[in-house]
Amino acid sequence: MAKYNRVLLKLSGEALAGEQGTGFHEETVAQVAGQVKALVERNVQVGIVIGGGNFWRGRSNQQMDRSRADQIGMLATVMNSLFAAEVFRTRGVKAAVMTPFSVGTMTKPFDREEALALMEEDTVVFFAGGTGHPFFSTDTGAALRAVEIGADVILLAKNIDGVYDADPRKDPEATRFDRISLAEVLQRNLQVMDQAAAILCLENKMPMSVFYLNDPDSIVHAIEDKINGTFVYI
Ligand code: UDP
Repeated sequence: MAKYNRVLLKLSGEALAGEQGTGFHEETVAQVAGQVKALVERNVQVGIVIGGGNFWRGRSNQQMDRSRADQIGMLATVMNSLFAAEVFRTRGVKAAVMTPFSVGTMTKPFDREEALALMEEDTVVFFAGGTGHPFFSTDTGAALRAVEIGADVILLAKNIDGVYDADPRKDPEATRFDRISLAEVLQRNLQVMDQAAAILCLENKMPMSVFYLNDPDSIVHAIEDKINGTFVYI
C-alpha cells in the first residue's frame, strides 16, 4: 500500500553514472525507471530532480567565474534529465522535462500547473536546471519543487543508506538513525542535504526519506514505509 500520493525523487548525478562515477550508466537508470513505473502504477505522482555531479560541479572549478561555472552545472543537470527521461520512455514510462530557463524546444518551461496536470495523467516530470540560479544546488532545486508541487515527501536516493551520527566511511562506530527530526539534522550539522535546502524543507514542513539507491527496490520500499534508511520528520 503506497503511503504517499505525490513524491519528489532526488537523484544525485553520480547515481546515473553507476560504478564508473562519470557520464551515464544506462542500466542504473533503467533500474530506476522500472521502480518509478511501479510507483506510477500504484497511482503515485512522481517528480524527479537529478544533480549534475557526474559531469560538472560549479564550486569545484575555482579558476572560473562562479556564475559561469554554475551555468555549466545547471546545463549538466539538463543533459542528465534528457537522458533519463528518454530511458524512462523506452521503458514505457511517460516523461516530460521542464527547466526554469529556455532550452529551445528540448524542454518545456517550468510551469507548476502544467507539471501538476502532467503528473495527474501519469507522466513523470523531470525538473531539470536546478533553481535556474547560480550559487544554489539541486538539493535546493529539489526542496523548492517539492514544496511548489505540494509533494508529501522528498525521496532522497543516495550512495549511502541513510543518515548517520558520523561519517561511516571514516568512523566504524557511526550509527544510523531510523528516524530523526530535521531540526536535529540541522543542529548537529549532519550531511543530508545542504543547509539552504534543509531550511526550505523545515519552513515548509517537508519530510524526507533517505536511502541507498542501489538497494533492490529501494524506491518502492520508501513509498511503502518499509525504507531501509532514515526517515527525517519535521
Ligand atoms: N547548480 C546551480 N544552481 C542550481 C542547481 C545546480 O548553479 O539551482 C549547478 C552548480 O554548479 C552545481 C551543479 O549545477 O554544482 C550540479 O548540481 P548538483 O546539485 O548536483 O551539484 P553537487 O551537489 O553535485 O555539487
